Amino acid sequence: MSIRTPHTLEELSRQALLRNEALAISALEKLPIILFPALFKEAFNSRCTGMVKAMVVAWPFPYLRVRGMMNTFNSEIFHAVLDGLDVLVTQQVCPMRGELRVLDFRRLPCDFKTIQAGTEDGVCSAETVHVKQAGKPLLHELRPRIKVRVDLYFRSELEEEEMYFLQWARQRKDSLQLCCEDVKIVLLSLDNVRKVLSVFKPKHIKVLELSIDWSWCTLAQFSTYLPKMRNLHTLYLVYRHENRFGVCGLPRLDENKFVQKLASQFSGLSGLQHLYLRGFCFFSEHVKLLLRNLKTPLETFSVTHCPVLQSHLKDFALCPSLHQLKHLDLSGPLLRNVSIVPLSVLLEMGAGSLETLELQGCKIKDSQFRELLPAFSQCSQLTKVNFYSNDFSMNFLRDLFHHTANMSKMTMEQYPAPRECYDEWENISIDAFSQLCSQLMDTLRAIRQPKRISFATYLCDFCSQRCVYDQVTRRCPCLQ
Ligand SMILES: [Zn+2]
Repeated sequence: MSIRTPHTLEELSRQALLRNEALAISALEKLPIILFPALFKEAFNSRCTGMVKAMVVAWPFPYLRVRGMMNTFNSEIFHAVLDGLDVLVTQQVCPMRGELRVLDFRRLPCDFKTIQAGTEDGVCSAETVHVKQAGKPLLHELRPRIKVRVDLYFRSELEEEEMYFLQWARQRKDSLQLCCEDVKIVLLSLDNVRKVLSVFKPKHIKVLELSIDWSWCTLAQFSTYLPKMRNLHTLYLVYRHENRFGVCGLPRLDENKFVQKLASQFSGLSGLQHLYLRGFCFFSEHVKLLLRNLKTPLETFSVTHCPVLQSHLKDFALCPSLHQLKHLDLSGPLLRNVSIVPLSVLLEMGAGSLETLELQGCKIKDSQFRELLPAFSQCSQLTKVNFYSNDFSMNFLRDLFHHTANMSKMTMEQYPAPRECYDEWENISIDAFSQLCSQLMDTLRAIRQPKRISFATYLCDFCSQRCVYDQVTRRCPCLQ
């Protein structure tokens, strides 16, 4: 039985203050500012809506982070915070100690030390708003426009609370600086995406994750927003099919112009550093166009579950924007009958920068990967490799390990179970799996000290999981 720590005097005084909300609100102007963060937290958790609203108005620091927004948020508290903001926006007279400049709803860990320090970046906004509408404003009539920072995650349909917030924000978009840097949209209609982007200016968006089942035509219509996202550094485009990841079909002839439009809009993404494409199917001409329109060196190039052809790999190799990669992920497509030699160019060019290399599920054979080994062995900065679900033999894996001798930064290594673990019908022998992986582990340990290393079988046909060996053998549920 645990012993409860007694409340401190400060905790008890906060609780006493909140028991009489009206008194507490009236005392705010005289409350030592050092007590604000903890009192706000207490009022927030106790759902004292009147107090929360009053504290937003009287907040004595430039920065207030209110963790999360909508979905995980208590609706009443959320409305109280917005009501407090409304008071600040509409009042003509500044409150005695209201210093709020940035209200941060983003889903970051709540850190009240940050609130006290009040040093959040972007606090000093150059944007100002006229308190009075008419006439030439005097200096004292200008005050910084309060910035509201949010992350937006929308899924399928806009929820009532999300609709409310969008409506609220739309009505105040001229008096607040609404700033959304991280947008995640899953299976939302283009009309609803337009509603979101009519309120939150695309220029602020830094990370956009779009999981869609749209036609090429719809995607092309959306793509006109991309050049407006001039601060975008990370773009995820995921094609989803019937609530699961699929692969969209090759564009029809009459759809070519839509794919070309999408690819050409990439030229406007001057700050793009991380590009993730999943489940898309492109013709070679589209790949060429897209790569030609990449204007900056990418750190991440992830093209997964997209059919990759020999010509695509050649185009990747020739693209200067892919020559200083930190992360390369080409997991998913079958490369069994494709020459992967062009990949060696990406490995050679990125030898000094490449940190993660993932070629999971490609069923690459020994003879194919052997041609990559000279370039691969130069990638001394690698911290993670994932080669699950490739067709490697014991001999080749041993050889591969010797080519990792200078990869001292490696922290996670995932290798396929050697071919010798399977019988002629591709059934796994668990005994052989454990024994051979143990031998391989010893081989690697004789070369260098690996940190996290595992071997895994192909995905099981029945449960879609793997048997994994990492010191111990873990079977997929069917084999337990
Ligand atoms: Zn299974």
